[in-house]
This record gives sequence, structure tokens and C-alpha cells, in this order.
Amino acid sequence: MNNNDLNESEHHIYPSLDLNIVTRQEHNISRKQISDNALKVLYRLQGAGFDAYLVGGGVRDLLLEEVPKDFDIATNATPEEIRQLFRNCRLIGRRFRLAHIMFGRDIIEVATFRGHHQEENKQLAAQSEAGMLLRDNVYGTIDEDAERRDFTINAMYYNIADYSIHDYAGGLEDLEDRLVRLIGDPETRYREDPVRMLRAVRFAVKLDFDIEEDTAAPIEELAPLLRDIPAARLYEEMLKMLQSGHGLETYHLMREYNLFQQVFPTIARHFTEDYSSQTEHMLDLVLDSTDQRIEEDKRINPAFMFAAIFWYPMVKLAEEMMETHNLNYYDAIMEASNKILDEVVKSIAIPRRHTATMREIWQLQLRLPRRNGKRAFRLMELNKFRAGFDFLEMRGEVEDGEVKQLADWWQTFQTAGRNMRQAMVTDLDSVSKPSSTRRRRPSTRKKKSKPTS
Ligand code: ATP
Ligand code: MG
Repeated sequence: MNNNDLNESEHHIYPSLDLNIVTRQEHNISRKQISDNALKVLYRLQGAGFDAYLVGGGVRDLLLEEVPKDFDIATNATPEEIRQLFRNCRLIGRRFRLAHIMFGRDIIEVATFRGHHQEENKQLAAQSEAGMLLRDNVYGTIDEDAERRDFTINAMYYNIADYSIHDYAGGLEDLEDRLVRLIGDPETRYREDPVRMLRAVRFAVKLDFDIEEDTAAPIEELAPLLRDIPAARLYEEMLKMLQSGHGLETYHLMREYNLFQQVFPTIARHFTEDYSSQTEHMLDLVLDSTDQRIEEDKRINPAFMFAAIFWYPMVKLAEEMMETHNLNYYDAIMEASNKILDEVVKSIAIPRRHTATMREIWQLQLRLPRRNGKRAFRLMELNKFRAGFDFLEMRGEVEDGEVKQLADWWQTFQTAGRNMRQAMVTDLDSVSKPSSTRRRRPSTRKKKSKPTS
């Protein structure tokens, strides 16, 4: 390794790694497990005289005998050189310049080896005062590339030239011991990129590994660094974490490490010692049901999940606003929805189309109690009725009582035949007591802001 020209402090951050080469006979990865498209890219690069390796999660998961989510490739070809080799290539990214080779919907990501930041590279690599990497486009050698990766288990390279595995940071041993271990000094690596704290939790849950002691130690204290991460990146990361099929466990581990509280400050205000608030109950329910749906290969909608996560904090705020702003329940919910969503998107950038659906689901909660006349029939025609009803059922589990009864009524109504439905509605009319609209204050202008249907 030619690390001789690194200065002392860089040695501290990036201890020279010991390369361990595992030959083709000594490991269990076969080319049959690698996607055709990834192989095509590897061979094309190799054919043009470049080094080409499969790297990261692809290698890690194959060694664990799991099916990789995707295959990432690292090479000494520059993005420009990559582009010249592939017609179906797009260069993307400002933070890291990457090549995407497109095969229909399958995208193979090809990254040029990244190097260290040295004085002469100042314009290319920017670092904030807190030590965070802002831009990171310095090309380097494979050794340097390995040192800059996050965890030892993510720094293994499968060489297409001889099918060997280059293990730079002891990843094989950590795979064996089932440990998530950062490469280099943990605090420095977290300060460079605080998202690595989230990734540590994500991999620990996904792989059922432990977070190695020194890697785990600084997290709780450094967790507030996440507040400086752009909201769009946090949103992406949260989807990966909460919609991974292990959302519930991920949330619990994030919370133990004080990470969830940073990403969702709005919710954390309602956290209790014994996980007993309605907010926490709802979180458990929605994440558990999301995990189940993924297990069953059913579709999941981030908007539904976020609507559930923020519902009780929003309702609590609405109740406060009824007092302080002298609003009726309906108007207070509208105001509180705006306020909560404005606050939320500052830390995680939930896209507009999803916040719109969240509002729809929330507004349906106000409409579902009002079932008389033709209303129940009309409600069922709505696009978001199903989501609104599923949501109501979940609330029924949290709140019990009236909401549970209402959810049961809707359950029966949906499965009932025409005559029975009519009878159910008539029955409501004959009782004609607005029991489930208890919270609505008498208002003469209640029709004014009827939600769109
Ligand atoms: P997954 O199964 O979730 O795709 P992965 O390990 O492939 O896991 P990616 O996010 O696809 O994760 O990243 C690919 C590789 O890039 C990682 O394995 C790691 O080597 C490197 N990497 C990604 N993010 C970082 C980061 N924040 N800091 C350092 N290295 C990173
Ligand atoms: Mg990956």
C-alpha cells in the first residue's frame, strides 16, 4: 500500500488497512449469483483495460448467502471514461459523481475509486467546520476507496479479473462475528457524515448483527449532528429504514440510540419512559403492519405510515389550538395539520404528493363519523376511503371506545349487502344523536369548508 505520503492526522483517521485477498477457491461467491447486467458492466470495463470490482452490499450479502438488493461497481475508470464505454450511461450526483448504467428499470451504479482529501485537492473536496464532508469528488486508488467506506463489511471487493475477494478492513472476520464496525476512528467518521449513525442501525437490524462497542459508543452523544443533514437525504434514509421490512425493530433501536428523536422531534415530545402514549402505541401499530405488508408482498404507501406517525401529535396540537385560538374541532385540525406538516418537512422532506395524501387521510377521520343520509355511500366511493378506513381501525386499537365502535360499523357496512346498508343508515337516522361528533362545537358554518371529494 502506498500510504507513506499521508500525514500524521490522516493516519489517525485512515489507519492503513491490511489487505487480505481471498482466492476464488476459498469463498462461496459464484458468478451465477451476480445479475447479468452487473456482469456485463464488469466485463466491459475489464475489456477496456480498467479494473472493475463488485463492491459494498452486493459482496456482503452474497457472502452471507442473501440476495443482494442491488449490485454496485467500483472502478479506476473516470466517469467520463465510463460514459464513453456505455451508451446507456447517465452521470449523476453532485456530492459523489457517479455513473448509472441503465438497463430498462435495472440500474447498475458505477463509482470511480475515491481518494483522500489533501491540500492540493481543496477545491474538489470541501469540508465544513464541523468536519462534515460536503463535496467528495477526489479520485484515488482502490486502497483509498476502501478506507473511505463506512463499515468493514461494506469494504470488500470482488475482482472480476480473477474472481478473488479483496478484503481491506477485516470485513470477513466481522461477518463471521456478526459485527457492524466502522472503519477508522468512529467519532471522526460520524462527524464526516452523521448519516453513518443511521446506517449502523440499519445494517445491525437488517443483518441481525451487533454494533461493535467502539462503533456504538459515540452515537448517543453525536446523534444531534443529524439535524444538519439535508431534509431530502433524511427522507430517503428514513424510507430505507422504516420500509425495510424491519421498521418496528429499526425504530426501537434508533430510539435507544437517541437517533429517532433527532429526525422526528415533533413526535419525540410525546415519548414516555414506558412507551405508553397514544403516539407511541400508534407508531408500534403502523410499523408492525408495514412490516407485515412487506412480508406479504403487499403495496405500502409512505403517506399512510407518516399519517399514522404524526396523527396524535397533530390531534394534541389541535386540541391546544381549540383552547388558545378558540377554534372548532374541524378548523383546529386543519390548522394543526398545516402547522405540523410545515414543521415536519423541515427535518424530513416528505414529498408534496405524500403530504397531500396525509391530509386526505386525516380529513377523512373527521368525515367518517358522519354517515347519515347518502353520506356513507358517498364516502365509500372516495379514492382514499380504504386508507381512511384502515387508519380508523388502527385508531380504534389505540383509543378503543367510540372510535372502535365506528370502525366496526364501517367494517360491517362494507361487507353488507345493499338492503342491510340502507338499514344501517336508517338506523343511524332514527337514533339521530350526533354521538360520534362529540368534539365538534356547534357551528353555523360547518358546511363552508367541506373537504373535496
Ligand atoms: P444496501 O443493501 O442497503 O444497498 P449497501 O451496503 O449496498 O447496502 P449502499 O447505500 O447501496 O449500501 O452503499 C453502497 C456502498 O457505498 C456501501 O456498502 C459502502 O461501502 C459505501 N457507502 C455508502 N454510504 C456511505 C457513507 N455514508 N459513508 C461511507 N461509505 C458509504
Ligand atoms: Mg447497495
